[in-house]
Amino acid sequence: MDIRARKIFEALFALEDLREIFRQALPTGLTKNEEEQFFNGIAHVETIIKELREGKGSPIKYVEDKIELRTREEEYININAIQPGGRLTPEARKALIAYGDGYSVCDKCLEGRLDKIRKPPVDEFHTELADFVGMEEARVVPGARRGFQAVASSLLDKGDVVIVSDLAHYTEFLAVENVGGVIKEVPSGEKNIITGDAVADKIESVKDATGKLPKLIIIEHFDYQFGNEHDVYGVGKVAKEYGIPFLYNGAYSVGMVPVNGKEIGADFVVGSGHKGMAAVAPSGILATTEEWAPKVFRPSHIVGDVTGREFEHKEPEMLGCTLMGGTLLSLMASFPKVKERVKRWEEEVKKSNYFIREFLRIEGNKVSSEYPRKHTLSKVDTRDSFDRIARTHKKRGFFLSDELKRKGIVGEFAGSTRVWELNTYGLNWNRIKYLSDAFIEIAEKYDLPVR
Ligand SMILES: *Cc1c(COP(=O)(O)O)cnc(C)c1O
Repeated sequence: MDIRARKIFEALFALEDLREIFRQALPTGLTKNEEEQFFNGIAHVETIIKELREGKGSPIKYVEDKIELRTREEEYININAIQPGGRLTPEARKALIAYGDGYSVCDKCLEGRLDKIRKPPVDEFHTELADFVGMEEARVVPGARRGFQAVASSLLDKGDVVIVSDLAHYTEFLAVENVGGVIKEVPSGEKNIITGDAVADKIESVKDATGKLPKLIIIEHFDYQFGNEHDVYGVGKVAKEYGIPFLYNGAYSVGMVPVNGKEIGADFVVGSGHKGMAAVAPSGILATTEEWAPKVFRPSHIVGDVTGREFEHKEPEMLGCTLMGGTLLSLMASFPKVKERVKRWEEEVKKSNYFIREFLRIEGNKVSSEYPRKHTLSKVDTRDSFDRIARTHKKRGFFLSDELKRKGIVGEFAGSTRVWELNTYGLNWNRIKYLSDAFIEIAEKYDLPVR
């Protein structure tokens, strides 16, 4: 392991300590004592920089008592299923340094509304966000799940039916549960793919059973289990035909895949900042049309009985404001790169397929997701390959993760050699090839035939 990665953390931390001197000093300047502290602090930074240049010294392990340094993006290749799209850009990390303080975005809040703040340009960012996903109005929310929640709470009454996929994320269920709604799942069938026809069939069966139409359809473009692409265009068409609002769940697409909600026929587009937009958690977006915006982003009407206070410019579904600091600024700072990276999605898919093709050269390896791949998240089945080794290996199911870790690869569930998920998003070709070779080398080490 290259010690320099940890030395960089150490230098950054030492600079933060220097910064702290200014946070305690008078605006008129440092006292003699503070100047001395500063001088000593600089000397400390210089020592670390010297070690950094020479690649020497001892590696730091902790941020703070018991909080370990997190170096998996610097020291390893991370193939975790849910993390790659939320890896911060350098711009987001800088924004986090500058805007990490609590309500940091509120310095120049003139109207008491997050999306109207001009400095930093939060209002402009909201306009761009809506445009980015081909919709008319957008808000930032604390995660995709809070987007589902806002829509469910605005549209549903107790007992109303919501159509979701049989591969739907649990947060869709919980958003519906909170308002007393009822879930009806569309079967994705043998291919594990949701079609417009299957959604139409489910709508018909709900209509037959209850005499009423479902109130909302929520379907993900790419599900979290297989990373399969579902026919959201077909679903959009069916939704229009029945006049049922359609929430496009873009947790695994917005910020990675080009998305145009209008073309899809979506009434709502939900994205996740920390899953797909290189932002700090919890963050996400909820975008909608001019038609639905007044319903979901309606103003508050409540009045205090004693004070008579009203909050007409606050939006109840947003509980007023949502992301008031580092989360939002990380989302904004990454946005220029995010807009560029969606244009390179085809290349990401190409790398995903390259990896899977190599992976399948190992006899017994299978891919449970649709193949060729249309996403970077894939479910693989190694029961007839690596798990056969695991059965007699002294480390059992941990042997594969141990072997991978030795090669600098992390992110798969430790102990999972059976059916598991991995994600190659954002890995450059060098890393993709290294990753592919690593699996093949492990197979060869244990005499698994490689085609
Ligand atoms: C990850 C995920 C979510 C939840 O996203 P958050 O931003 O963490 O709330 C919802 N739906 C799908 C399909 C997901 O993959």
